[in-house]
Amino acid sequence: MAALSFKTLDALQPKGRKVLLRADLNVPVRDGRITDLTRIERLIPTIRELADKGARVIVASHFDRPKGKRVPEMSLAPIAQALGQALGRPVQFADDCVGPVAEAAVARLQDGDVLVLENTRFYAGEEKNDPDLSKALASLADDYVNDAFSAAHRAHASTEGVARFLPSFAGRLMEAELNALNVALENPVRPVGAIVGGAKISTKLDLIGNLLEKVDVLIVGGAMANTFLAAKGVNVGKSLQEADMHDTARAIMAKAQASGCEIVLPVDAVTATEFKADPPTKIVPVDAIPADSMVLDAGPASVELLREKIVGLKTLVWNGPLGAFELHPFDAATNQVAAEVARRTQAGQLTSVAGGGDTVSALRHAGVADEMSYTSTAGGAFLEWLEGKTLPGIQALGEISERFLPL
Ligand code: ADP
Ligand code: MG
Repeated sequence: MAALSFKTLDALQPKGRKVLLRADLNVPVRDGRITDLTRIERLIPTIRELADKGARVIVASHFDRPKGKRVPEMSLAPIAQALGQALGRPVQFADDCVGPVAEAAVARLQDGDVLVLENTRFYAGEEKNDPDLSKALASLADDYVNDAFSAAHRAHASTEGVARFLPSFAGRLMEAELNALNVALENPVRPVGAIVGGAKISTKLDLIGNLLEKVDVLIVGGAMANTFLAAKGVNVGKSLQEADMHDTARAIMAKAQASGCEIVLPVDAVTATEFKADPPTKIVPVDAIPADSMVLDAGPASVELLREKIVGLKTLVWNGPLGAFELHPFDAATNQVAAEVARRTQAGQLTSVAGGGDTVSALRHAGVADEMSYTSTAGGAFLEWLEGKTLPGIQALGEISERFLPL
């Protein structure tokens, strides 16, 4: 993604103004309970700053997939309540995100008040980026602040369309995320490396292709490394790998060589004959993987090799665990490398940016998710950025908002 200029909250004097804040309140809920408050907690600084500066804060978000219909179980009402608790001040709720109910709720707001609107996806126009819905949302406010990086890969009415009608700004969370990605990939201090692990090359081809052009060292781990090893003629036994991706893996290695990017593969492996926790295991060099076994983690020599490579780096991007970390003891390599990355980051020797659904779980499991320079919980949007794609929600903030249209 090309460098973008966008305005931050520093450029907004919100006192007395109605600010439409696109947040990501799409939190995980099980049996009616929020299981992870991270997204709510990360939003607090932006809401607090706006409210403390006297804005009338109008929060809009999607939640789950109601597919353009009103689904009572997908109401944002309980999440608005949780937001109020996290914020430590009252949060109002409007039973609709546009129209008379929303307008009346906005009209009642005083400076410093916070209002949450009902689920934007109750309208089909949200995912269709319908300009009528964008306009209706925009008409509630004077300014638009987008703090939902995790929804920015989608051109929806509340993430992209609305920015065409209002002066637009990045919230503090969005700003932090864009800065982290900028520091990691667009303008990194070199040498810069990437760890790409996880299960399949096929889901990460674009990501690898983009990273190859940007990084000096590409560390391949997880089951993905099995495919690379197999493509080099190594017998990987019964390991998870993609036989139809061997040509692709060879092309990636050739491209890396041509562009001076070093690809690092594991040199040893922890193997087992069954995919379960705590089975009997063997540690073997990669050229001696037993035919009846599968590679479930990188071995100690690989961890040592990765440690040496990481010591040589100033910047590191990480997506994908190095083994089947959900099963003990196949979390070991991921844990050890994560600890090393955390240690060097905390010592000021490394800038580290990690993201991806399972990657965040793996780093939490390793106990160091908060010790990276930045850990992105944005999922799909983070991956699309790593793929080099232009995210519509970000583009709208940067370019379109420079010449926003009158309502
Ligand atoms: P992310 O969600 O962070 O983008 P992925 O979804 O690509 O990461 O990959 C994570 C999955 O890869 C995990 O479920 C992990 O168990 C699996 N995995 C990693 N290494 C292996 C391996 N050697 N064998 C089987 N599965 C593996
Ligand atoms: Mg995943």
